[in-house]
Amino acid sequence: MTTRPLIFTDMDGTLLDHYDYSFSSAIGVIEALVEKQIPIIANTSKTFAEMEKIQQTIGFNSPFISENGAVVYIPIGYFDTQPADTITQGYYWVKEFCEPREHWLQLLDSKASDFASDYIGFSTLTAEELCEFTDLSAEKATLALVRHYSEPVLWTADESRKRAFIEHMNSLGANMLQGGRFLHVGGHTDKGRAMDWLAQVYADKYQTSVQTIALGDSGNDSAMLEAADVAIQIKSPTHTFPKIITDNKTMQSKHYGPKGWAECLQALLLESSTSTPSFTLEEA
Ligand SMILES: [Mg+2]
Repeated sequence: MTTRPLIFTDMDGTLLDHYDYSFSSAIGVIEALVEKQIPIIANTSKTFAEMEKIQQTIGFNSPFISENGAVVYIPIGYFDTQPADTITQGYYWVKEFCEPREHWLQLLDSKASDFASDYIGFSTLTAEELCEFTDLSAEKATLALVRHYSEPVLWTADESRKRAFIEHMNSLGANMLQGGRFLHVGGHTDKGRAMDWLAQVYADKYQTSVQTIALGDSGNDSAMLEAADVAIQIKSPTHTFPKIITDNKTMQSKHYGPKGWAECLQALLLESSTSTPSFTLEEA
């Protein structure tokens, strides 16, 4: 049986440059992978609206995983038949892994009102206000605000109060994820579980075994990297490689961001077949 490689990639700091969000140094390798019909699947904290725009910019028509593993979007018709356990939304088959954002907003409102003056919630911000807290442009801030599965909050009180808040929200069933600037209130999802689900869909639909190759730069990629058959850590200009625990093949890039992304996938999938004997590529 042939094995089909599937690439699952983080976006910010991995395929997109940490500072200017450019992916230009990876274009050549992206084109070569598309030529070989190897799917490149974004697995990101970004929202649907942000990702739809990026998919168009890069020219991807593959499924993508959004909001840190909360949801998988598969363009309708990408597979011959609709995968089990998905719903249809607009142009996509959608697999959800947690309650929607309204659930978390309601929980904050009804069961955590004691903390209401300790943070600023995304849902109360305008795009202009979000621009002031981030480096996002007005257009990108507008897309970032439209979240479907989690509520990011900007903490304004002290650390001990924050710990109390996290504990309280955990007791209500929320999963609290600390991002660079924002604390995310959402469900128990991770990039690894969503990757595994989608990889199984590929295996079923193509009647083949699959090899998951995951790329990421940060701690929120660890679950995905540890679940993957090949874990590729992309070097970050802002922190050292997070520790991951896996018995599978691992690689660490020499270059930062998209240049490191291209460097590793070039070596793994595109160099002469004698150097990558474990892969047999099957044309779809
Ligand atoms: Mg990242």
